[in-house]
Amino acid sequence: MFVRGNLVRVLAVVFLFGVIGSGAAFAETITQTFEHSLAVGTHAQSWEHRIDLPDAWAMKGQFFVKRQLALTGKMVIEREELKPTYYFVKVRLPKAYLWVAKGNLQVTLEGAAEAPATPVLDACTGLKVSGPGTTPKMAWVGQGKFTALTMLDRTSGENVWERVILGKTTADLDEGNLNVGHHYFFGVRQSDETGRYSAETKAGFRVDVKKEKCRYCYGSGWETCRNCNGAGHFVSTGPNGQPVYTICGACNGTGRQRCTWCNGTGYTEVPIIVNE
Ligand SMILES: [Zn+2]
Ligand SMILES: [Zn+2]
Repeated sequence: MFVRGNLVRVLAVVFLFGVIGSGAAFAETITQTFEHSLAVGTHAQSWEHRIDLPDAWAMKGQFFVKRQLALTGKMVIEREELKPTYYFVKVRLPKAYLWVAKGNLQVTLEGAAEAPATPVLDACTGLKVSGPGTTPKMAWVGQGKFTALTMLDRTSGENVWERVILGKTTADLDEGNLNVGHHYFFGVRQSDETGRYSAETKAGFRVDVKKEKCRYCYGSGWETCRNCNGAGHFVSTGPNGQPVYTICGACNGTGRQRCTWCNGTGYTEVPIIVNE
C-alpha cells in the first residue's frame, strides 16, 4: 500500500512538470536582424546567413523548433532552412536603379526540448501562372504563411528564380525575364512557423508567342511616308511662277512606307503563357 501511494505522488509531480514545461511562457527565443543596402547603379546581390544553436541551449537539451520572419524595404528571401541546430537563409536585394536599395530581415528562432507535434502542412493546390508572357504572375492555394517558390527552366535545366513569400498566396516574377520557346516548371512548397516544408506541387508551362494585329498600321503593314507626309511629291515654285513637282525619294512617289513597328508584316508577336 505504501509503495503504491508513493508511486501515485511521483506520477502527479511528473505530470505537473509536463504541463508547465510545455507552456508557451517557457519558450526561449533569439532574434537577429540582417541589414543590407546597395548603392545606386549597382547589380542585384545575394547574401547568405546562418544562425547556430547557442551552446547554452544545447546544454539544456534544447534545439530550434520554430522561426518567425519579418522583411522590410526591398529585401526578398531566396531560400531558407530550419534545422534543429541551425537556421540558414539567403536574402537578396534587386538592382538599384535610381535609389539606394536597402532592407532588412529579422529572424526570431524559438527553442524547445521536443520536436513539434503538429503535422507537416499538406502540399499547395490550384497553381496558376498567367499574365505577361516573360514576366508572369503566379498564384496558388495554401495557408500563405511561408511559401517557397522556384522557377525551373526545363529547356536549359537551370533554376532561374526562387523566393520565399511571406503572408501571401500570389507573387510576381520580380526579377529577370523568361525566354520565349522555353519550357518551365513553377514549383511551390509551404510551411508554418515550424519551418517544415510540405511536398512540392509543380505546374508546367511554356512561353509561346501569339500573333496580334499591329497596333500602328492596323494590320496593313504600311504607314504614311514621314518624308512627304503621304503626298508622294513636293511642290515648289519654278522660274515662271509655275508649280514644279518633285517625286519623294523616300517612298518613290507612293506616299507610304513600310511600317517600322511590325517591319511591314502587319502583325506583332506577343509572348503568352501556355499551360502544359
Ligand atoms: Zn505595322
Ligand atoms: Zn514619301
